[in-house]
Amino acid sequence: MSGAAFLTAVRDALPDLRLLTDPAETEGYRFDETPYLDPGRPLGVAFPTSTADVQAIVRLAAQHRVPLVPRGAGSGLSGGANAVEGGLTVVMTGMDRILEVDPENLCAVVQPGVINAALGRAAAEHGLFYAPDPASFEWCTIGGNLAENSGGLRCVKYGVTRDAVLGLEVVLADGAVIRTGGKNVKDVLGYDLSHVFIGSEGTLGIITEAILRLLPMPPPKLTLLAFFATVRQAGQAVADITRQGVIPVTLELMDGFTIRAVDSVLRLGLDSEAGAMLMVESDAGGDAAAAELDLVAAACHRASATSVTRAADAQEADWLREARRKAHWSLEQAGVARMDDVGVPRSHVPEMLAAIERVSAAHSMRIGVFGHAGDGNLHPTYVMDRDDPTAGARIDAARSDIYAAALALGGTVSGEHGTGVAKLGYLEAQRGPDAVRAMRAIKDALDPLGILNPGKVLA
Ligand SMILES: Cc1cc2nc3c(=O)[nH]c(=O)nc-3n(C[C@H](O)[C@H](O)[C@H](O)COP(=O)(O)OP(=O)(O)OC[C@H]3O[C@@H](n4cnc5c(N)ncnc54)[C@H](O)[C@@H]3O)c2cc1C
Repeated sequence: MSGAAFLTAVRDALPDLRLLTDPAETEGYRFDETPYLDPGRPLGVAFPTSTADVQAIVRLAAQHRVPLVPRGAGSGLSGGANAVEGGLTVVMTGMDRILEVDPENLCAVVQPGVINAALGRAAAEHGLFYAPDPASFEWCTIGGNLAENSGGLRCVKYGVTRDAVLGLEVVLADGAVIRTGGKNVKDVLGYDLSHVFIGSEGTLGIITEAILRLLPMPPPKLTLLAFFATVRQAGQAVADITRQGVIPVTLELMDGFTIRAVDSVLRLGLDSEAGAMLMVESDAGGDAAAAELDLVAAACHRASATSVTRAADAQEADWLREARRKAHWSLEQAGVARMDDVGVPRSHVPEMLAAIERVSAAHSMRIGVFGHAGDGNLHPTYVMDRDDPTAGARIDAARSDIYAAALALGGTVSGEHGTGVAKLGYLEAQRGPDAVRAMRAIKDALDPLGILNPGKVLA
């Protein structure tokens, strides 16, 4: 069946649907934040506004065997939302209503196009708190967060997106609509389907609603900043903090290269001579927060920190958080910056940082490192000259050495950005053939025609 017949059928079934087909208009929806992954050219881009719209699109796609690519804000870093050749990209940002904030049950019911930060603000109006906060929180969507099982700057204490999910509404590949949970805190009937769809990157179903756990708003944060002569010393402090059982809300790292890149654009007066910096925050409140940061400060001193200070006030703490969130963008000002994503057990953060330094030297390549060190999740970022024609091949060689080092330490080649297209080649190396066979069985059972985001997660 032809793509043209499919588009006609969609227009007939949903005359009010916004549907772009002009390549000049669809171009902006071909890429997420990984344009180097060479996405396909889509048939069109659709903007459903209801579950019924999504259901109708999926049914017609199944009938016409047209691939569908669910898409949120397109901030992904593994190519999950990149267009598929001859497919329809289904942009969920029109389904952006917060349907309910329920203080009695400490939860919210939202559509998938809600921006993460908007949910945070809506919860705050009720004195509540939505914990998962990717650094892209001002523009990424809850649907994208769920599909990637995203992390963020508060995971050390509050966990990742999956830890905030009570239930989902999902449109399956045959157009059926299912609910995987509800407002019950405890609910163990049958298989736990929420966790099948969380992190499935749009390959198993399209999420059309979510019931998310909220928490009472924690007290204001206290923020500590520590500088070190070397990145390994900062890593030792991270391992020491974890070993002591201290669980701050945030424990973020930036290496010297990243500190200088951030400071050259934001001009915050960070120590540009330093080899690394840790930003540590406690939301334990009052004396408890001060005591927590005292333990953190002691660990930093034991690791030979050159300075340990507290943010003077809330505004200074906001600037520091903003500095960390702008790390990738700041490195982009220094060249073509490609952010990677590896994770190791927290005790191995020092060895992983040392391995990244070795890879940087061996490949004569600038690699900035920042990330959620308290989760063992680091973002080595390859910074290449804009006119280097060999950049892609050189990055591939370096990243494969970095992944080998992470795996040798019992780590992962993706802590939070997902498999998408970027990590396809590494899935079996980390999980093993039998685990990949089990994943394929799930994919085949839920999407036998292979229409949902084909070529992502599983080759
Ligand atoms: C500067 C920057 C900082 C970042 N910081 C972090 C961070 O701290 N932590 C982190 O984890 N990530 C981070 N990311 C990556 C990215 O923001 C997250 O993966 C985010 O969750 C993607 O959301 P999105 O709405 O942009 O999704 P998209 O990029 O549009 O899509 C991501 C995936 O979700 C699928 N999808 C989207 N909506 C649905 C739906 N409704 N149903 C089913 N599948 C769907 C898509 O098919 C795709 O596979 C960062 C990215 C950037 C650019």
